[in-house]
Amino acid sequence: MEEIIITIDGPAGVGKTTVAKILAQRLGFIYVDTGAMYRTVALMSLEKGISVDNTKLLGEEAQKLKLNFKQDGDNIRIFLKKRDISDLIRTPEIDMLSSTVSKIKEVREALWRLQRDLAQRLKRAIFEGRDMGTVVFPGAPIKFFLTASPEIRAKRRWKQLQAAGKAIDYQEVYGALLKRDKQDSERQIAPLRPASDAIIIDTTHLGIEEVVNKMQTYVANKLGREE
Ligand code: C5P
Repeated sequence: MEEIIITIDGPAGVGKTTVAKILAQRLGFIYVDTGAMYRTVALMSLEKGISVDNTKLLGEEAQKLKLNFKQDGDNIRIFLKKRDISDLIRTPEIDMLSSTVSKIKEVREALWRLQRDLAQRLKRAIFEGRDMGTVVFPGAPIKFFLTASPEIRAKRRWKQLQAAGKAIDYQEVYGALLKRDKQDSERQIAPLRPASDAIIIDTTHLGIEEVVNKMQTYVANKLGREE
């Protein structure tokens, strides 16, 4: 089977995960959440007490990463070996720490290798992250970059946290999101930015269904033309 990789990049809270999961279901592609990999390295650094300055050891931990993704209704649960870490990696603390470990060259290089190996095995997959279209899969035939105003993104993230029973102030979520965006966009290696050939979709005033439909139409046109 010919390899077809679709990339979706964009800042925090833009809705990448939600639309990527639905689009993957519709197309019969496998969905890969690369943010979860950086989040897991952050969790390991916390749990094993590895300082973010110990870049060599964190890189080695990233190399050994054994993550399993399991479908659970509309959700995907994430297992580190046999342990379900889905909820542990979605905390405000891990939000920021994952952004910090993602600046480390050794960590990025280990995860890039893992992501490319995964693509070779999966063949047809949607990879979601920050540098999928620019660095990891520069030759991907279909690249999307989602944007939305920081206010709307913070509101979406705040609602997610509330739904998960986490009492947190909106202003706090907004401030943390701006800080993470700045860190992700200004880092030296693989900063967050659209690939020159990415389709940019502003989701500020669009519902999930509208965004997915737009993407699906684009994919159908693009792949249809190439066959
Ligand atoms: O997408 P998510 O919010 O789960 O990503 C968590 C963090 O992981 C991001 O803020 C970013 O710093 C990092 N990340 C990255 N490259 C990716 C995916 C995520 O640097 N491809």
